[in-house]
Amino acid sequence: MKLIIASNNAHKIQEIKAILGRRFDQVLSMREAGLDMEIEENGTTFQQNALIKARAVAEATGCAALADDSGLSVDALDGAPGVYSARYAGVHGDDEANNDKLLQQMQAVADGHRGAAYHCVMALVRPDGTELTAEGSCRGEILRQRQGTGGFGYDPLFFLPEYGCTMAQLTPQQKNAMSHRFRALVALEKQLDEEKEG
Ligand code: IMP
Repeated sequence: MKLIIASNNAHKIQEIKAILGRRFDQVLSMREAGLDMEIEENGTTFQQNALIKARAVAEATGCAALADDSGLSVDALDGAPGVYSARYAGVHGDDEANNDKLLQQMQAVADGHRGAAYHCVMALVRPDGTELTAEGSCRGEILRQRQGTGGFGYDPLFFLPEYGCTMAQLTPQQKNAMSHRFRALVALEKQLDEEKEG
């Protein structure tokens, strides 16, 4: 079976191919599949948005499609920025502005109350209409200033107590082996295994 990943992000595609590649005859990005479409992510949960993307690509291609949706949920901000993580400060993908806004919103939050989690939902939609979703998350704490230059998004502010550093201070290999995306992919793989075993 051919799998189309509902993304053109090279990093994500490589990560997904490494884990799910052996289960599908071919794994292609949207671009590799010749697909150029804008999908409006108007859901209110990570699961809804992942399913919106996977369903749209499955419908357009007739192939199996995999999509992910992810973001940061901060305890003291009632789960914000959540599904709005990429556009928290207004402009989609402006990591610097998003981090500045997060620092400002968290200014009055005391140490010990700065917990947060990255969440990721992977959605797989197959040509026969069957759907699977799997979740992965990673807990950390929001710092008062940036540390590290690796990763992307909120990583310089996302401190991992068990590593003693931020997500932006991990090597890409370290991050890929423990990220919320990795955990969601592993959970999805487990569901595929369980299906096979019947
Ligand atoms: P998307 O699901 O790739 O569109 O990610 C949504 C947004 O969530 C990103 O633009 C980031 O702001 C945030 N995000 C998701 N995953 C990560 C991560 O691994 N590190 C930092 N920020 C992330």
